[in-house]
Amino acid sequence: MAQFELMALPYAADALEPVISQRTIEIHHGKHLATYVNNLNNLLSGSGLEDLSLVDIVKQAQGGILNNAGQILNHELYFGQFRAPKENNIPENELMEAIGETFGSFAMFKEEFQKAGATLFGSGWVWLSAKDDGSLVITQEANAANPVQRGLRPLLTFDVWEHAYYLDYQNRRPDHLAALWDIIDWEVVEARYLIN
Ligand code: MN
Repeated sequence: MAQFELMALPYAADALEPVISQRTIEIHHGKHLATYVNNLNNLLSGSGLEDLSLVDIVKQAQGGILNNAGQILNHELYFGQFRAPKENNIPENELMEAIGETFGSFAMFKEEFQKAGATLFGSGWVWLSAKDDGSLVITQEANAANPVQRGLRPLLTFDVWEHAYYLDYQNRRPDHLAALWDIIDWEVVEARYLIN
């Protein structure tokens, strides 16, 4: 039977401070994500879906299996896209060109993305994804949903579940979203864009 494992973080738990505290990372990764992994492994046993990849489970499953698999996929993309804070942190090359073509400018993209995150009601995720033609799109996904369910290729995401920011920012979700731009590893995001 397939056994999914908790991803290893590609940085130390305190590497994202002050944007995301060590305590938030330890609970978010070590408790919340670990619980989704344990839940999925328990639910998959005897489901007939044991041999599918995580993405295929998210595309095909329903109910608890979908919710837990979706949250694992979402968090692997989320935690995998960060690195230590950096000033003037912007993408380069092909991804920057595509952002300019789709949204007008990087500043306009940031504004639209942050607004989508701030206005998502309840728990969920805001995403930047690529379409088959290389153009980009921003979507809001509720709860555990992922853009692969719409046939999109996810590139960048902000987690707007309260567990992602409440210890550090309490109710100030927009402040948290505005701070995240300093820790995006654009090389990772651009690699996701160019992989097609
Ligand atoms: Mn989360």
